[in-house]
Parts: sequence; structure tokens; C-alpha cells
Amino acid sequence: MATVNPYYSNLPGNYLFAEIARRVKEYCASHPDNKLIRLGIGDVTQPLVPAVIAALEKAVREQADAATFMGYGPEQGYAFLRETVAFACYDGLGIDADDIFISDGAKCDIGNFQELFAGDATVAITDPVYPVYADSNVMAGRAGPLGENGRFKGMVYLPCTAANGFVPELPKDRVDIIYLCYPNNPTGTVLTKAQLAVWVDYARENDSVIFFDAAYEAFIRSDDVPHSIYEIEGARDVAVEFRSYSKSAGFTGLRCGFAVVPPGVSGVGPDRKRVALRDMWNRRQTTKYNGCPYIVQRAAEAVHTPEGRKQCRAVIDLYMKNAAKIRDAFLGLGLTVAGGVDAPYVWVTLPAGMDSWSFFDALLNRAEIVGTPGAGFGPSGEGYFRLTGFGNPAQTVEAVERLKTFRME
Ligand SMILES: *Cc1c(COP(=O)(O)O)cnc(C)c1O
Repeated sequence: MATVNPYYSNLPGNYLFAEIARRVKEYCASHPDNKLIRLGIGDVTQPLVPAVIAALEKAVREQADAATFMGYGPEQGYAFLRETVAFACYDGLGIDADDIFISDGAKCDIGNFQELFAGDATVAITDPVYPVYADSNVMAGRAGPLGENGRFKGMVYLPCTAANGFVPELPKDRVDIIYLCYPNNPTGTVLTKAQLAVWVDYARENDSVIFFDAAYEAFIRSDDVPHSIYEIEGARDVAVEFRSYSKSAGFTGLRCGFAVVPPGVSGVGPDRKRVALRDMWNRRQTTKYNGCPYIVQRAAEAVHTPEGRKQCRAVIDLYMKNAAKIRDAFLGLGLTVAGGVDAPYVWVTLPAGMDSWSFFDALLNRAEIVGTPGAGFGPSGEGYFRLTGFGNPAQTVEAVERLKTFRME
């Protein structure tokens, strides 16, 4: 009998999206001619841009000829893409191509990176949160089962609610690892440079490491919002950054992202000597990963060309127009709304006393719109509701029309 990893039993089932699917299915069964509009999705709807398609086609053709065929590539990614990223995303921020590790997406990088740390490392997450941060640490045994309060035992929660303007407060007790995601999923909120600097200073003072998830960087419009944590003085010694082509260039199916691990970011080894996380991550990737496909890396490279940038920008603008419409519709209902300005997510504060599943049902039954209950992202998400700008524009306009006549009661 093989004993399995006992920590997996601390994970609840993925009941959020399963429960949404169940309620939607039930509704459709009793309303066969429904006109459901799905604004709960975190997936993109627009196709890949022409510059990306052209790069893919060219790279595919190369595979038909022995002279240009590509087999195993470097585990860290091809130099052409690492250098392009270092220049296009981090020019002037002191990040080298050697610090960039190309992968098949940010979710796996973020899920995997925790394994560089000891099993007893302490972890802080914002609440509500992208579930990967919590679950990957639960699997590694850094947190116990989910308690009555909706929190994993032993994990430090940093509530982000309307009461604190969705800006997390520093943990009371020292932590080893801090997960930050800005622009934020699910709240759509951002941190200014000054607000992010508070976290970099904390990490420097406490010898902590920040995992900075910048998957939504391309959606930032406001001037004082940092696109990278390395815009903050001193961050290169305490932060790793994760980015993705998924939301910025529609690569959710194609799969490409990267981790940035500057050589100054370190932890302490068993002999109390400092160990560079970049060396450890390189060791980890070369052992367990064989690299993002060549054709996909060529596609990602095309995102950074002038045409690619322009074309991706137009798609992002389309999603942000959707988000602005959704935002206005909820403001029109007299509700308070966060996000939708520097992120594709709109986070609605529900009227006092209304729980997020009740609102889900009301929106489904009375407007045939599907969103995501805030409670699914953590206990501090209760009383909130997430909608996304990733829908198609015509359906988003139709949803907004329905919301004009929607009554809360
Ligand atoms: C979508 C998303 C990602 C990107 O994941 P990929 O694996 O690159 O598709 C990362 N972080 C957050 C918070 C996201 O919402």
C-alpha cells in the first residue's frame, strides 16, 4: 500500500466553479430557451492577433525542414525571447536575460516556486485571493485544513475589503513568503508605487521574499501604478515576479509566461549560508521541465514587435471597454464598485447583508447573467461579486442593457 501525500486531504474540492456549473446547469434545464451571458469567466474570448499567427505559421514551417527543425530547447527558454523580454519589459530596471525563465504559464511557475522553500516557511496571502497561492502551499504541508472561519490553518491572511480600500495591511507577525498580485484578481484593484514600496521595505527589513504576480500588468492605465515590482527601489533583493502572455496576448490556450528571478534574491540554507533563488530555480527547472515549445516562444516574441504590441493593445482596449461598461452599469444600480480601471475585473460591493451566492442566484434568475461570487475567493470575498471584461463586446452590451432594469429585490 502506497501512502499518499497526506496534505492533499486538507484541500477542499474545487467547489467554487463546480457549484457555479451546477447552478447554471440547473437553470438551463428549467429554462431551455435561455439567453445566458457569462461574465464570470477568467478566460479570454478574442482570437490571437495577426502578428502572433504569422510568427506561429513561420515557426511551424521551420519544423518541416531538417535545417531549421528544433528539438529540445534550453529549459530556461531561448535566448531570443529572454533577451527580448529583458529589454521590452525591464529596460532600465537592472534585470538581465539570465534572470528571465520562460515557461508554459504563470500558474505553474507560481504553483511550483514554493518548493524552493522549507516545509515550515510561513506564508501570507491576501484575501480574497487567486486560489493557486494557498492551495500549492497546502499541498506542500505549509498549512493545515480549512477551518470554520474559511481560512487554512497556519496561513496568514491579509484581508482586502472596502474597509481598507482593498489595500492589505502588513502582517502582525513576521512571515517568510508574501504573495502579492497587482493588478489584482479578483478585486481589480492596484497598488501605487508608494503602497508597493511599503511591502518591499517590509521584505527587506524582515528578510522575507515577495512572490509578485503581474499577470495583468498590460491592463494598467494609471500613471502612478508600477508595471513591475522592480520599479521599486530594493525590490531586486527580495522579490520574484511572474508574468504571462495569457491575458495580455490571448495565450490561455497557447501557454507561455515567465518568472523573473534576480540573482540577489536569496534564502538561507541548512548551513545558514545564503542561497540564491535563481540558482535553485535553475536547478529545479532543468530537472523537472523541458522548456516551452519553440513555436510558442516565437509567438511570444512577436507580441513584443511594434505590430504585435499595437494589435494586442487593441484587444486589451476592447476588454477594458467591456469592463468600463460593466462598471458603469453597477454604479448605475447604486452599488459601489472597485476595479475595471487598471484591470479587466470589476468587483462589486453588495448591499449590506446580501451574501454573494444570493446575488449570484438573483443575477442568474432575473437577468440571465453569470458572475462569480466573491466568497469563492476567500472569506473576505463574502459580500462581493466579480464580473469580467473578457466577454465578447456584443454580449457585454446586452448584459449592460439587462442590468439597467435589474432590481436588487
Ligand atoms: C490568469 C492568471 C494567471 C496566468 O496564468 P497562466 O498559467 O499564465 O495562464 C496568473 N495569475 C493570475 C492571478 C491570473 O488570474
